[in-house]
Amino acid sequence: MNQAEVNKWVEKHPLIEKIIERQEVLWMNPLIEPAVIGLEKSGVSAADVQDASDRLQRFASYIQRVFPETKASNGIIESPITAIPKMKEALGNKYKTNIPGEILLKQDNALPISGSIKARGGIYEVLKHAETLAIEHGLITTEDDYGKFAEPEFKKLFSEHKIAVGSTGNLGLSIGIMSAKLGFNVTVHMSADAKQWKKDLLREKGVIVVEYADDYSKAVEEGRRQADADPTCHFVDDENSLDLFLGYAVAGERLAAQLKARGTVVDADNPLFVYLPCGVGGGPGGVAYGLKLAFGDHAHCFFAEPTHSPCMVLGMMTGLHDSISVQDFGLDNKTAADGLAVGVASGFVGKTMEPLLAGSYTIADQTMFDLLKLLTDSEGIKLEPSALAGMTGPVNLIRGNVEKANLPGATHIVWGTGGSMVPEEEMNLYYATGKK
Ligand SMILES: *Cc1c(COP(=O)(O)O)cnc(C)c1O
Repeated sequence: MNQAEVNKWVEKHPLIEKIIERQEVLWMNPLIEPAVIGLEKSGVSAADVQDASDRLQRFASYIQRVFPETKASNGIIESPITAIPKMKEALGNKYKTNIPGEILLKQDNALPISGSIKARGGIYEVLKHAETLAIEHGLITTEDDYGKFAEPEFKKLFSEHKIAVGSTGNLGLSIGIMSAKLGFNVTVHMSADAKQWKKDLLREKGVIVVEYADDYSKAVEEGRRQADADPTCHFVDDENSLDLFLGYAVAGERLAAQLKARGTVVDADNPLFVYLPCGVGGGPGGVAYGLKLAFGDHAHCFFAEPTHSPCMVLGMMTGLHDSISVQDFGLDNKTAADGLAVGVASGFVGKTMEPLLAGSYTIADQTMFDLLKLLTDSEGIKLEPSALAGMTGPVNLIRGNVEKANLPGATHIVWGTGGSMVPEEEMNLYYATGKK
């Protein structure tokens, strides 16, 4: 895109000027539709999500067999929701904003196996691929006990197959750990910003890690190219995968059950606002989709992106989705928020979510660090920086006079997307970067 085109977009959407200046902005999606219509238009269905949910249920006996930390949840990979009243008070003080509703933290940082939201979609896609191969080779039927996946003939089959993925880090961890456990040959193509400890951890588990001097899009492109040339290789395509999306979407029914169990009502007077850190879009898009299925018009979903990498909001505002990059608008795509350093959004997710997403906002890296410190100090919960991107959501909506956000019956869910795998020294550095 040239400067004249950029100027044209700024004229059409003055908010883009602020985005170019890397200000923190709130955008309300003018194309949102009533949930029934939005879901109808999306091209994804409730039956697809149910199928994913059933598949994860079938694999539960295998998961608890090979990952003993999932025994307590019977092999279901799920995270707790936690009320954070002290953080709510601290946020109110910091931003001098009264937040009448309740704030809950969805603790995907505590998801078993890989400690981030990627344990939803990433693990699901690998399991689905393993199931497809095992059925094709007559090793299993959907009626069998999937604990059998741990047996040697399965490992032998999978050792003849490859899985590859391009990642800034966390998706690589999920795909790498799960694929290696099943016995696949797995390669993770990692962007320059991926952390050393993630590469080390994966190599320890027998994963091949290929490093690139470029950003995420380049790692994905190169991974896809190599995988395409090899018929035994399944490429997990973070930019276009329906399976990843469906794995994430199962979170909707799970959250609905958790809210019901704690007596949290969701209806017109008690709306649900959910704030989801967004990179390429699959994680937050899938989760938001599942929430719209579960709660319809009572769920208001917002994406949160770094001020240096607002690819999804630019893609959705312009309707140009994956045909533009943040670099087109003079932004550098440099952020300390792992998983969010994405310059080109998923076109599939942007288009799917166009009639369903309430809006989006941006957040500066320093704000994420400040909130990381504030959450540690107030609640004793440690998240990685990107997982704090959701935390300014309630403040942004209330300050922006978003309808219903200031209702006392509103529930605000900040999706805490990761953190438990971060080494302690690394976490201490994050904490030290936060200011009072
Ligand atoms: C990947 C990731 C996200 C965003 O998910 P996308 O599917 O890339 O949009 C958010 N937070 C963390 C910690 C992540 O690893």
